[in-house]
Amino acid sequence: MTKKVRVRFAPSPTGGLHLGGVRTVLYNYLFAKHHGGDFVLRIEDTDQTRYVAGAEQYIYDCLSWCGLEPDESPLKGGPHAPYRQSERKAMYYQYAKQLVDAGYAYYAFDTPEELEAMRANLKTEANPTPQYDGKIRMQMRNSLALGMEEAQHLIDAGTPYVVRIKMPQNEQVVFTDMIRGEVHFDTNLVDDKVLLKADGMPTYHLAVVVDDYLMQITHAFRGEEWLPSAPVHILLWQYLGWGKAMPQWAHLPLILKPDGHGKLSKRDGERLGFPVFAMNWKDPKTDEETQGFRERGFLPEAFINILAMLGWNDGTEQEIFSKEELIAKFDIGRVHKGGAKFDYEKAKWYNHQYIQRKTDAELLPLVKPYIAAHGITTDDAYLEKVITLIKERCTLLPDFWEQGHFFFTTPEIKEPAAITDKWNEQKKAFFESWADGLDGITNWTHEAIETSFNEAMAAHGLKKGDVLLPLRFMLVGGKYGPGVFQIAEMVGKYEARKRIVNAISSI
Ligand code: GLU
Repeated sequence: MTKKVRVRFAPSPTGGLHLGGVRTVLYNYLFAKHHGGDFVLRIEDTDQTRYVAGAEQYIYDCLSWCGLEPDESPLKGGPHAPYRQSERKAMYYQYAKQLVDAGYAYYAFDTPEELEAMRANLKTEANPTPQYDGKIRMQMRNSLALGMEEAQHLIDAGTPYVVRIKMPQNEQVVFTDMIRGEVHFDTNLVDDKVLLKADGMPTYHLAVVVDDYLMQITHAFRGEEWLPSAPVHILLWQYLGWGKAMPQWAHLPLILKPDGHGKLSKRDGERLGFPVFAMNWKDPKTDEETQGFRERGFLPEAFINILAMLGWNDGTEQEIFSKEELIAKFDIGRVHKGGAKFDYEKAKWYNHQYIQRKTDAELLPLVKPYIAAHGITTDDAYLEKVITLIKERCTLLPDFWEQGHFFFTTPEIKEPAAITDKWNEQKKAFFESWADGLDGITNWTHEAIETSFNEAMAAHGLKKGDVLLPLRFMLVGGKYGPGVFQIAEMVGKYEARKRIVNAISSI
């Protein structure tokens, strides 16, 4: 029987979630659902110095906004609880001890000053950041250099220590990545990473291996930046005797700056004016706020579609995929090795497509807060009609206000010159008499308003080219918006007349 697929997203809650992080969530989720498996959220918070208030809650909120709910998590619980590593602290020591007893790891007592001195002494131009590794470990204060007996005395005397892996020398570590194929590492280039810290907390390297094992993870997808850690993890799996149970890995490609040069950073978003985080994130230490896709007015369905396509396609030209379709078609083997360029214009194109595909009734609750933010309470039936008229012009949710504010408030005419430049007595007379006659339109529909407009226009010897644009400015405040007669119908006879009369008297 094949094992049930189990994947995990294992973030360290240290700040906002970059879109690359959400894409990692998404690929994990799609893979799990495609195979009828479980998607686990594990919070990797063993580095207490990096604790950031609110960061864990932010992760839950992002996942729920995206509709990528985990099957097991610190909030939801599950058969392998707890899912927060700090709460699993007591579990890790025995594995560190097992590794030391088997000779694969050792106790190290070096103080921060001693480590600093080692780096300063060994630093050369060719080796600017000397590592604690096989070449120098016997010159340091650890149980290999001092002997186990002395090490035990030091431990008994309460000397702080860490546990380090003893990286083998002159070995090749090889594994097959689901995206990259065979990857080789030279163990001489890898340092003796700390596995257990002086405070008894595991480091990421030990915790990730122990928890992937205990939680029966079958596939682990993570960012490319974790590839250099893979040899340490592979050796730990072997040294702990779990080699056969090791998950299959896929290291996901980077998301690149729009010009393709380097990893897309939060700063790039600020520089180029687009969000890089899933949702707004306010750093509690600096109060610095980073914009998110949600607050920019992206729909979560569009957001996950955009992310899915950053590094993957189904082999056809299809670009729009619902979550269900993504689940059905996602194939980790089709994820590209190379980085994926982020294109904000294309991201907006997706959102525009998703807005068009939603019904007006579906858009109503999404648009309402953007209108309410301007102090307007509107009746749902009216707002739904507005949505029908303007949705084609809207790319992001705040556009519904930008493109539709004049349905709710009397606009200010932004460029009066557009009317005044070609204004004359003939036009004035036409608008005055037509405005006066509006009262007489008993059936206030856009067809009836247009007919009355055309008749008055002909009677005054004017053409559409003379009066249609001024009418738009009077009703809308600018040169945009849906059909003017539809706008007049919507705002009502009284308001339409008021806007025209006020505009005339201001010219
Ligand atoms: N805790 C790591 C992170 O913050 C997880 C890497 C992994 O998935 O192995 O990204």
